[in-house]
Amino acid sequence: MSIKQARHLNYKTKILCTMGPAIGTEDKLIEALHVGASAFRLNMSHSTHTTHEQYVKAIRNAEKKTGIYVPIIADLQGPKLRVGELGDGVMLMTGQQIFIADPNVLKRKKLKAPDGYIPLEYPSLSRDVRKGDMLLFDDGLLSAQVMAAANDIVKAVVINGGLLKSRKGLNLPYINVSVPSVTAKDKKDILFAIKNGVEYIAVSFVRSAKDIHLVRKFIEANGGDMRIISKVEKPEALTNIEEIVAASDAVMVARGDLGVEIPAAQVPLAQKHIISLCNNYAKPVITATQMLESMIKNPRPTRAEASDIANAVLDGTDAVMLSAETSVGAYPIEAISYMRMICTEAEKPIVEDGKLFVRTMGIKVTASQTTDSIAAAAATIAEEQRINCIATLSYSGETAHLISNRRPRAPILAVTSIISTARRVGLFWGVNGFLLDDVTTTDETIEHIKKLLVGKGYFNKGDTVVFTIGRPAIARSRTNMLSIESL
Ligand code: PGA
Ligand code: MN
Repeated sequence: MSIKQARHLNYKTKILCTMGPAIGTEDKLIEALHVGASAFRLNMSHSTHTTHEQYVKAIRNAEKKTGIYVPIIADLQGPKLRVGELGDGVMLMTGQQIFIADPNVLKRKKLKAPDGYIPLEYPSLSRDVRKGDMLLFDDGLLSAQVMAAANDIVKAVVINGGLLKSRKGLNLPYINVSVPSVTAKDKKDILFAIKNGVEYIAVSFVRSAKDIHLVRKFIEANGGDMRIISKVEKPEALTNIEEIVAASDAVMVARGDLGVEIPAAQVPLAQKHIISLCNNYAKPVITATQMLESMIKNPRPTRAEASDIANAVLDGTDAVMLSAETSVGAYPIEAISYMRMICTEAEKPIVEDGKLFVRTMGIKVTASQTTDSIAAAAATIAEEQRINCIATLSYSGETAHLISNRRPRAPILAVTSIISTARRVGLFWGVNGFLLDDVTTTDETIEHIKKLLVGKGYFNKGDTVVFTIGRPAIARSRTNMLSIESL
C-alpha cells in the first residue's frame, strides 16, 4: 500500500453509507471505500435477512481487499407505525373524514379498506390518541387531526391531503404511544446482527435511557457484544437527552423523523445541542438524513447541501450519513466523493488552527481518569510537536476515542489484535483501526508497530509517533504509558 492509497488515514469526519442495490456489490464497495466511505449501515426496515447477509459478505471482502477496517451498523426499525396494504394507494382529500383501525378490527366489523378506512397494525391507537391530536403520514407530507377515538376506531379529518400509499409511516408527535420500544421484529434483527458479527446496533425512536438498557440486556443475554447507537428522533428523546447520551455508546441525530416529530425549524439548534453534548460526554455522534438528497437523482449537490454537511462538521460531528443517496440513488459513488470533498474543506479550520478541544478530566467522561489524562496528553503533545501519527494500543478502542475527542490533526491509529475493535473505531473522528496479529512485551510491540507503519507505506522513516499503551501490554493493562518515538 502506498501513502497515496493510505489517504483514508487523513480523513477526519467519517462517512456512513446505507447499503442497498446501488452499492451492494464488492466492486462498488471497493470503489466506495476508495472515494471516502468509512462505515456501512444495514437498514433493517428494508430488505430480507438473506440480502443483508450478502451485504455483510461483500463488505468484509471489500475490507480485505482495501485493508480499510469498517464497522457495520444494523439499524433497527423500532416502534415505527406503518399503515397497511392500500393497493395503489388512497387519495385523501383535505377536509375529508377518515377512519383508522387495526386490520383485525376492520375484518370483524366488516369494514373495507380503502373506502375511507385506513388499516394500521396497532390495535391500541384509539386508546393512545385524543381529540385534537395530529396524525402525520408519509414523513409529514399528509396530515389529519383526530376528531374522536373510541371502540378501536379513530375518526380524523384530513388537514393536508394527498395520495397515501401502502406501508407509509405514521408519526404521532408528543403522543405517548404504548408500543414496546423493542419489537418482535427488532429482536429477530438483533439475533441476525449477532450471528453476522456486526459492530453496532442502532436503536430507533429511543425515548429514554431505559430503552437502551433493554436492548443492551437483550444483546448480552444472546451473547452479543455490539455497541449501541441511540437515534434521537422523538421530542421525548430531546427531553431526556442527557441520560440518553450517557447510556449510549454513540448517538445519531436522526433528522428525518426528528424533523417530522418537531418543527423542522427547530432541528438545526437541536442538532448543535446534541452534538455538543456528545462531544462533552466523549460519545461519537452521527449526523444523518437528507444530507445530499438531490444526489439521489442528480450528479451534483446543491449549495445548500454542501453548507449542511460543512455545518455538521463545524458543529463537531464524528460522522455524516448517506441514506437513499447510496442505497438506491443513481450516483452513489459521486455522492460519497462530494461528501468527502465537502468534509475535507470544512475540516481545514478545525485541523489547522491547532486549538485542541481542551477538556480537563471532564466529569461527564465515564472513562478512567488515567486513560483520559493520557489521551489528553497524547493529543496535546502530537499537536505541539507536529507529530505525524498517534498510535494507541487498544483492546476496546476507548483510548483512541478519548484522543479523537480532542480533535488533534495527526491521524489516530487504534492498534489492536481484536478485529471487532479495529472495525468499530472506524466510526470515530480521525481514527482508523490497525490490526496486529500478536502482542508480546511492551518494547517489542512498539518496535513491531513502528516497522509495520513504515512497511505498509503508511508513514515514512523519520516520521514521529506518539504511542499510548497499557504496560505490561501482554496482560492487557489499561492505558498507563505514553512514549514519543521516531520511525
Ligand atoms: P431512518 O433514520 O432513515 O431509519 O428513518 C434516520 C432518520 O430518521 O433521520
Ligand atoms: Mn428514522
